[in-house]
Amino acid sequence: METMQAAGTVNAHFAEKQQFFDHGHSRSYGFRLAQLKILKKAVDTYEDQICEATKTDLNKSSTETFMTEIGVVKSEIEHAMSNLREWMRPEQRPTPLSLHPSSSRIVYEPKGVVLIIGSFNFPFQLNIMPLIGAIAAGNCAVVKPSELAPATAKVIERMLSDFFAVSYISTVQGEGHKVVPELLESHDFHHVFFTGSPAVGSSIAVQASRKLIPFTLELGGKSPGIVDASAKLKVAAKRLVLAKFLNAGQTCVAPDYLLVHESVKEAFVKEVMSTLKKFYGKDPASSKDYGRIINVRHFERIKAYLDEGRIIHGGQYDADTRYIAPTLMEDVPRDASMMREEIFGPIWPIFTWKEREEILEYTRLNRYPLACYIFTSSKAMEKYIVDSVEFGGGCINNALLHVGNHDLPFGGVQSSGQGNYHGWHSFAAFSHAKGVMKTATWFDIWLKYPPFSKFKLSWLKRLM
Ligand code: NAD
Repeated sequence: METMQAAGTVNAHFAEKQQFFDHGHSRSYGFRLAQLKILKKAVDTYEDQICEATKTDLNKSSTETFMTEIGVVKSEIEHAMSNLREWMRPEQRPTPLSLHPSSSRIVYEPKGVVLIIGSFNFPFQLNIMPLIGAIAAGNCAVVKPSELAPATAKVIERMLSDFFAVSYISTVQGEGHKVVPELLESHDFHHVFFTGSPAVGSSIAVQASRKLIPFTLELGGKSPGIVDASAKLKVAAKRLVLAKFLNAGQTCVAPDYLLVHESVKEAFVKEVMSTLKKFYGKDPASSKDYGRIINVRHFERIKAYLDEGRIIHGGQYDADTRYIAPTLMEDVPRDASMMREEIFGPIWPIFTWKEREEILEYTRLNRYPLACYIFTSSKAMEKYIVDSVEFGGGCINNALLHVGNHDLPFGGVQSSGQGNYHGWHSFAAFSHAKGVMKTATWFDIWLKYPPFSKFKLSWLKRLM
């Protein structure tokens, strides 16, 4: 029942979508492939408007927008189109002897009408990447972009309404804390895909669980950037600086803080400073490649961190333009709020360590980060970090770019997320894996039927 429509607040066109789905329109291979093609055309058509919108919302340069919002989406659509037939094919599975003569398979079935909720920081791709998975898996979708990036939210709405019927895909706008609970209350969605903060993610999980709606949560955390004594410092500095200061630090997989071996700290900090100068010039405020903080609330939150330690580089800010310079800090107490909260901004606290076990003392203060990056030339160190830090996904001698590999699941662990997506994993997230066994009728093992006897039991014990 369209209670939302009646209330006159938000209209998810849920009943039309349910009907569209129930008639099986979204299921066939041909339909899914055609919709992916349409989505690609939509992104191509709206490319300039997307760039303008992300410039307005976050002062992103066109290159950054292409790299992190448009290019990744196009590449994901192409990947889905090339693999769709294979993904949709039932997967043959072995059957134990005791169940013969049978064959087994997994059939990937669409879930129905799904709700996708995006966050503000990559305001285009974090809505459209999951949408690709929803389409590939044969679902109908409602997209709810973040109200904190209103220009991009409007472009998404225009783009989707230009290219898709509301009975298949549509957009809902508004303040999340009002709109989302209302949507979840009024409609029985078949999956909720949420990208955002752990606090809101947890409230989504509670609401969805009440109705037994499955969900994926793509959340955040404090991801460490670890630099070992054996690291190639120049390249480590370049890769870490890019990952930290892209989007002015408002990236869920940014290296939130640095853990540098004490023997290379001075040399590494020098490399970071010279890299910052190369990337953003002497005055990052005038660089066309340096972003701005999304709103006043986040600007004030991040600015307050500047008082929690010693600034060794940067520290300038401008409230009018919500600019905060790339900033390096030392002597930050472990219990400072900056070390208890996800920084999500361009402030980088640096800590040193001597023995590798000390790294865990830091990472366990904020356990289960979304990402982790280790820069080292030592295989033993690489193994130690991968095996002992519990993180969603990460890189060795790189940062952030694991997210760009379609063949790796992208998601958090525990408090940084539940479930994952990208490539086949997106298809799987929006599908129900239905296990089906087919048994021949020419033979029927009589042992399994009553009346039971000691003889039957002894045979069953041998077979099972
Ligand atoms: P947020 O949780 O404030 O908002 C995310 C979405 O939820 C928005 O669409 C918003 O409208 C909606 N929302 C807000 N309050 C709500 C409520 N009470 N009930 C229901 N919905 C509500 O997150 P944000 O500030 O937009 O994004 C920053 C956070 O997202 C960071 O923690 C970051 O690490 C995380 N993030 C994670 C990923 C990932 O892929 N894992 C990607 C980007 C951002």
